[in-house]
Amino acid sequence: MAAPVIDCDLLIAGGGLAGSALGRAMALAGHHVIIVEKETAFRDRIRGEVLLPWGSVEAKELDIYDILIRTCATEVAREHFYYSGAATSPRDYRTSTPKGTCTLTFFHPEMQETLLNEAARAGAEIWRGAALSALRPGDRPEADVFDDDGMKTVRARLVVGADGRESHVAMLLAMPRSNDETELFTGGLQMTGDLQIEHALYFCLHAISGRGVILVQNRPGNFRAYLLHHKDALPRRLSGARDFAAVMQHFREIGLPPDWLEGLTPYGFFASFDGAHRWIPHPVRANCALLGDAAAASDPVWGNGLSRTLRDVRLLRDRLLDDRDWTRAADGYAKDHDDFFQRLRRAERLNARLHFSMGEEAERRRQLAYARMESEPELNPDVSGLGPEARCNDHVISQLLGQDHVTLI
Ligand SMILES: Cc1cc2nc3c(=O)[nH]c(=O)nc-3n(C[C@H](O)[C@H](O)[C@H](O)COP(=O)(O)OP(=O)(O)OC[C@H]3O[C@@H](n4cnc5c(N)ncnc54)[C@H](O)[C@@H]3O)c2cc1C
Repeated sequence: MAAPVIDCDLLIAGGGLAGSALGRAMALAGHHVIIVEKETAFRDRIRGEVLLPWGSVEAKELDIYDILIRTCATEVAREHFYYSGAATSPRDYRTSTPKGTCTLTFFHPEMQETLLNEAARAGAEIWRGAALSALRPGDRPEADVFDDDGMKTVRARLVVGADGRESHVAMLLAMPRSNDETELFTGGLQMTGDLQIEHALYFCLHAISGRGVILVQNRPGNFRAYLLHHKDALPRRLSGARDFAAVMQHFREIGLPPDWLEGLTPYGFFASFDGAHRWIPHPVRANCALLGDAAAASDPVWGNGLSRTLRDVRLLRDRLLDDRDWTRAADGYAKDHDDFFQRLRRAERLNARLHFSMGEEAERRRQLAYARMESEPELNPDVSGLGPEARCNDHVISQLLGQDHVTLI
């Protein structure tokens, strides 16, 4: 006899930041939520560990900021920017962002575990070790979910694919993905060491050679470093533990203080990711919606992915709670999502051209742009502080890069 179909309001595939934050919010509002997460225990996949100030605003809106602080996250109040090894004056987020919010840092798997537990505490059903494998969109979409006990069929008012960059749900829905050309890469590495430095965000740029580093403490005695580089900056893409020495050498050349590097030992694995923007236009079909990285991926170099994911969650939550007609609500979410994602994409593309273009000519243009931003702060896009609301209109682009870039970005 066929197993009975399980009914719920919201079926979410993926228990990462997107899935657990949405599942928690909707369960708290009294809806029957099922989250299926294929991993039984989260492990390091080299994902975001820096939630920027505009993302902290989103986390507060979703009531998860204090939970993160109590459990796995630390507030970072300042950013230190080094240009070709020379320190500039630090930025204090508390006095330079619209709502005086800080950056948060955490170990990504701990953040996932925390928020998935919180979704369960709010009343969501969590199926661990379970993967969504088939989907039948429609008035009441149905999905087949496999776990160790076999297959179950779930029917929901709305199915949400919150299953990350390589979304299986997007593939099952045959939703075509658009993408930019490759420009920048991000590689991530963990390092251990008793380094006594301010708990801050460190961003070092060696722009003329198209390379940069971000360093943060993600747990006591543990650091995450991201090697950022232009596609033409390295002769080959680095990967694996065999490239630790090469990565450390790049960190030295880019300008991370040598005594810091002496105190840090890399471990785990190194992997690099193509930062080209990838997105699915209008990521909703027949009562199935995509959320977070499944809907669109921004360039990890700029650290907006977690914040963007939380913006998606807030927009979808608000639409679903405001409108009983979830087909219409999901459609509204897709429009909201497209609008802010395309603004964020443009601002990140401006950042990439401005900060990572290589060579003498680009360096000369960059120095002029930095001087302009210093004397006229309204020309500073400030993507980390403002996110999709970054200053990035045609005037800003032409002032920073030149008129010919306005149509290219
Ligand atoms: C190298 C790198 C560095 C980054 N650094 C930053 C940063 O510093 N700051 C920042 O803001 N962002 C950063 N990001 C982006 C950030 O990590 C993502 O935007 C964010 O994790 C997206 O969350 P998500 O929940 O949408 O997806 P994910 O975190 O990918 O979660 C998806 C979940 O779905 C599960 N899943 C997948 N398929 C199925 C299935 N079929 N059934 C059930 N479950 C499934 C997975 O196991 C996973 O738990 C970085 C990304 C990369 C690649």
